[in-house]
Amino acid sequence: MNCELCGRPANLERFEIEGTIMNVCSNCQSHGKTKAQVERVERHKPILREESRQTIVENYSKLVKTAREQKGLKPKELAKQIAEKESILSQIESAKFKPSLKLASKLERALNIKLVEIVNTEVELEKKDSKPLTIGDMITIKKRTRK
Ligand SMILES: [Zn+2]
Repeated sequence: MNCELCGRPANLERFEIEGTIMNVCSNCQSHGKTKAQVERVERHKPILREESRQTIVENYSKLVKTAREQKGLKPKELAKQIAEKESILSQIESAKFKPSLKLASKLERALNIKLVEIVNTEVELEKKDSKPLTIGDMITIKKRTRK
């Protein structure tokens, strides 16, 4: 019989994961996924769900260029407005340089556009919950709860 976490054939022990009895190998247990620890990970989930990450939208170059042109600003003028070099701006507009979050927020204010999006960990976790957790998922969750 194969381990339900990593899929390897091994001597298995039974653990309860999210109300489901799973057969887990000793290797997975050595990663700390005992019944008690799995339950502790589950209890930490609401905290994980609140974590979010800011990223720059994929089409940032087009957004900046279009908004700048709509405002009738020359690259030089916009660069001056956000206190950056014109060369940086042209690299951003040609998608050669992804702005930092700080720079992106300056562009957002100057051009009245949205360049930063929030990626919520919740979405990923919820998706993973619909299928049995893999060993990779378990390790990720465990690392995060150590913070
Ligand atoms: Zn295993």
